[in-house]
Amino acid sequence: PNSQYELLRRRISTNTKEFWYFIYSGLSDIQKKSGSMSSEVVNSINHLITLGGEHKRSLLHDINQLEEVDGYATWRDKESKNLSDTVQMRFEYLQNPPDCTTARKLVCNLNKGCGYGCQLHHAVYCFMVAYGTQRTLILKSKGWRYHKPGWEDIFQPISNSCVSPSGESTSNWPGNSETQVVNLPIIDSLTPRPPFLPLTVPEDLAPRLMRLHGDPIVWWVGQILKYLLKPQKKTSAIVQEAMSKLGFKHPIVGVHIRRTDKVGTEAALHRVDEYMTWVDEYYNQLELKQHIDKRRIFLASDEPKVIKEAQNKYPHYEIIGDPAVSQTAALSSRYSDSSLIGIILDIHMLSMSDYLVCTFSSQVCRVAYEIMQAHYPDAYDRFKSLDDIYYYGGQNSHNVIAVLPHKPLRNGEMSMSEGDIIGVAGNHWNGFSKGHNLRTNQIALYPSFKVKNKVETAKFPTYPEVSK
Ligand code: GDP
Repeated sequence: PNSQYELLRRRISTNTKEFWYFIYSGLSDIQKKSGSMSSEVVNSINHLITLGGEHKRSLLHDINQLEEVDGYATWRDKESKNLSDTVQMRFEYLQNPPDCTTARKLVCNLNKGCGYGCQLHHAVYCFMVAYGTQRTLILKSKGWRYHKPGWEDIFQPISNSCVSPSGESTSNWPGNSETQVVNLPIIDSLTPRPPFLPLTVPEDLAPRLMRLHGDPIVWWVGQILKYLLKPQKKTSAIVQEAMSKLGFKHPIVGVHIRRTDKVGTEAALHRVDEYMTWVDEYYNQLELKQHIDKRRIFLASDEPKVIKEAQNKYPHYEIIGDPAVSQTAALSSRYSDSSLIGIILDIHMLSMSDYLVCTFSSQVCRVAYEIMQAHYPDAYDRFKSLDDIYYYGGQNSHNVIAVLPHKPLRNGEMSMSEGDIIGVAGNHWNGFSKGHNLRTNQIALYPSFKVKNKVETAKFPTYPEVSK
């Protein structure tokens, strides 16, 4: 297929959702004033919301069908496998230099002072810089706060031949081309910043990624996680056993409800029924395609009460999830050995779900979403976040490009000309996003459908030694 076709297909799907966010939220605002309205008006609004929602699901269903009947499904599978094989081979090559005593290395300490999802993102960032500077990544993990014996006890080592951080010369970042070993700090205190940081993807892969995938950076992160997170045999056995014990099977929606220390500090509280609304929406749409015997949910949370609450309130659903796992997550101050297997299990099952409903303010859900990308040619739209759009901690500004001009119709709306570059702050899920217009310096709301994503690229090494 030509890229334009793939981009348009995704654009229509995204903007169908945006269109309904806009209409639905407008109607809900009117509904809130129902006290002053006649019952006839109230009924009309309810009618619009109900049938309008059905209309939207039908449109989305048809667009999704297009993907299955346009004749490119085989191409998508092959291209996805091909791209993945290409980068995985490059990763293997980078991580297994012929002579470790002379290899150029980048040393990264896994033990960033934060949670498991955050530490995985730290490791991925280190890997991006290693790939960009063509240095073998050495991951230091002895005394890891989640598992004292270290990473290799749970996951396979990230190199078969080169794990020692020693060398002829060592320096802190950035070092120079002569320095054999470079120590990398956390992304928050990295100076100078190399061009390899998110949301940047390798230029040599970008045209193919932009055609295949709705959000190339998420694909890129997903591929690095695929390389890093190869479980040891015993880890794999624990995961398999837990999944069959819980009765994990498809179709299934993964719901992540982040509570405890996050709420009120880094994120707002969302009630269980807010998540359930989107689970319902997913299943209502899926029902247009297939018969569903049971609406199944995998629910993960750091708050054990939430699983019981959901099971009691929604008895017509099959809600699986391990309260014991969340119990450990809640009790073990989250940063200890006992909670590691719990969070690994939860993230794995979330990533294996058909669709995710969560808050992207949590790194746990973002990691699950990233890992999910490696299971499909393009899973960019298999999620609903109740708060943030996708981001990567420490990322450079996330920019979009205006494809339609906008004249403000109300206070707070942005003036836009075609081609303007806008740094996005977030989507308000009501048809508008907030951003910073780099041409006019205005910070304001713009209609989300009037922009397209700007994929950032940089010249990474192209690893010509590894040809397929
Ligand atoms: P964030 O704080 O949500 O952005 O994500 P982090 O991964 O950095 O830190 C949160 C930590 O809380 C995780 O690493 C887990 O240890 C724990 N946690 C949060 N949500 C869950 C969950 O659904 N299940 C389990 N088992 N632990 C969780």
